[in-house]
Amino acid sequence: MSEATGRDDPLDRLPKVDLHCHVEGTMRRETVIELAAHNNIELPTSDPAELYHYSSLDSFLEVFWLVQSLLVDRDDWTRLAYEAVVDSAAHGLVYGEFFFTPARHLEQGQFLADIVAGLDEGFAAAEQETGAQVRLIADMDRAHGPGAALAMVSQLIDLRRAGATGMDRVIGVGMDSTEEGVNPADYVAAYELAERAGLRRTAHQGETTPPWTIQAALDVLRCERIDHGLSVLDDLEVTRRMAAEKIPLTVCPTSNIKIANHVERLELHPYAEMRDAGLLATLNTDDPALTELDLGIEYRAVHDAFGYEFADMVAIAGDGIDASWLDDDGKRRLHARLRSAAEELQDSG
Ligand SMILES: [Zn+2]
Repeated sequence: MSEATGRDDPLDRLPKVDLHCHVEGTMRRETVIELAAHNNIELPTSDPAELYHYSSLDSFLEVFWLVQSLLVDRDDWTRLAYEAVVDSAAHGLVYGEFFFTPARHLEQGQFLADIVAGLDEGFAAAEQETGAQVRLIADMDRAHGPGAALAMVSQLIDLRRAGATGMDRVIGVGMDSTEEGVNPADYVAAYELAERAGLRRTAHQGETTPPWTIQAALDVLRCERIDHGLSVLDDLEVTRRMAAEKIPLTVCPTSNIKIANHVERLELHPYAEMRDAGLLATLNTDDPALTELDLGIEYRAVHDAFGYEFADMVAIAGDGIDASWLDDDGKRRLHARLRSAAEELQDSG
């Protein structure tokens, strides 16, 4: 098997899904510089190489918020969405369910309808060009509290009912940002509303909080997936249940190292342990541009860190398909595509 050489790497070319990718976290450095100039926003540095540097979750969040602040009008969202898919598809993305977290923008007076329409336009153009497909998950921002979350979900549902542009692309809700000191159950009203409207449900949980918060997300918020969910292994009961019920976890090992400093090296990350425990632990990028990452690099890194075979990585890609919110037909088609590509790449590798 070849080295980690970008597009020559079979793991880079393998068809993959990404179920945990924040669209804001895909912004190219050059786009940061250009949008800042266009929107008259001063950056801490004009050197693209210096932009994405941080040593802790707090300094990461400052950069993330800076990137978010550059998205001022509909065209900015379109550009972001287009580049996100083009860049991901270049490393094997065939299907994505991407988060967007509009709380800050809504607070500053942007309209949810414009944000979604802008994202939709960019995704549609990139889908046409690359053949990849992307859906959206509207994330509630825990830093803004349950009231803002409920208002956002309610607005989302109204726009969906009204048939607003791009709304059929939004298939679910989630929540992100700070976990500590937050009881997931406080968000039950927003999640109930989302479920009644037929939206799928996930939540960032258990990256830095104990397993009871994962349990609350499953039982109180009726989440169908958990994003990160690393602490699940601290509770045998929750682990057994999630394995038995095949409740997916969208894990982002490199992000856990670079952003949250959760573990020092990939070899020490619980990802392999999660898979050994029978959990449907999928592999995803989180904030790829901000961590100099893409799906190809992540698959290669995990392959190397845990001594996985090519076939193990194909199985992980297959689990990503199963964990997606595609319908059965969509999943079957992607599985067939993965199978035939894997055979071909296996022979050529
Ligand atoms: Zn995330």
